[in-house]
Amino acid sequence: MFKYYKLKIKKDLLMRKLKLFFWLPVLSIMACSDDPVSEDIQVENQNQITTSNSNDPLVEIAFPESKGSITDIYYTGMKMPVENVNGKYIYQGDIIIPKGKSSKSPVKLVFEKGEDVPENKSVGRTSAYWTDNVVYYDLDGSLPDKNRVYDAISHWEANTNLEFVKRSGQSNYIYFTPGSGCSSYVGMTGGRQEITLASACSTGNTIHEIGHAVGLWHEQSRVDRDRHITIHFENIQSGRGYNFETYASAGYDGEEFTTNLDFGSIMMYSPYSFSKNGEPTITRADGSLYSAQRSSLSSGDVQGVNSMYPSTDGGSETNYINGEYYTINGLTVMYYYDYWYYESPFGLKRVELIRGNWFYI
Ligand SMILES: [Zn+2]
Repeated sequence: MFKYYKLKIKKDLLMRKLKLFFWLPVLSIMACSDDPVSEDIQVENQNQITTSNSNDPLVEIAFPESKGSITDIYYTGMKMPVENVNGKYIYQGDIIIPKGKSSKSPVKLVFEKGEDVPENKSVGRTSAYWTDNVVYYDLDGSLPDKNRVYDAISHWEANTNLEFVKRSGQSNYIYFTPGSGCSSYVGMTGGRQEITLASACSTGNTIHEIGHAVGLWHEQSRVDRDRHITIHFENIQSGRGYNFETYASAGYDGEEFTTNLDFGSIMMYSPYSFSKNGEPTITRADGSLYSAQRSSLSSGDVQGVNSMYPSTDGGSETNYINGEYYTINGLTVMYYYDYWYYESPFGLKRVELIRGNWFYI
């Protein structure tokens, strides 16, 4: 699908330099010599082929043709390396981090019990979920192949509790618009938030980008991912390794959190993501390969999304899944048997949500 080879051929430059020598006439003598002509032939034979991952339909990239500088920012309570490209913070290839809601220095999102919570907490927070299970959207009139959007939306509606409604004046909505790659924000950011779709972005890629917009991160970036997968940094293209960093270092002990990483998730990177040599960059922890897909939501995706957006029919309570990570009120936390845990700089800490703010227990 993605056939964007970045073929950078510097055309052979044939530079012909003519050096004219002027012989100054001395008095009345005009000497005219043969103008020596030197030909400098300079050929730059740099047929550089830079392959980005834009030819892999299992890895979405916001700007396949561009590379930016890498910088660390803080968002949803986590430090994450982002690529600063085309004026945007890009995380893991296709996730756009809102600049106004991220910070260059740590922002306090979890407070000690009894601590006064500052009034202005705008930095570092995200609205995250859509309300009443309704996602409003609109399409740029110039977007090619609009059916991939309609097909992706139908797939989401058929499999989850979410409903997608064409915007009629609502202020928070997704705007599907053409771009150089596929990209999205994570969760409802407030206002108009774009999902960009290059022509090569398939229906499956669109399902994936909508997954971000309703609040999903990449499956391989689970905080506990190192218990499930091995990253082979030696096979990653230079300058792309940051795409594989987790936002928190794993390392807390214990096997009690048993929910597994879902290799079949539509939010899972391909094993060959950003490979420089055709060797896998991600394998299962035991070194074996897995197959990634971009055709449909997995049963794990459906379960996870429906736990974020429980059915509104029966008024049932939210059924969070043990061991899953959720971004709630600006913080990414893990649910486990009625308790919430946050991967703090000091390890995994139990936290509690009180009137919209998180506190350490
Ligand atoms: Zn993605």
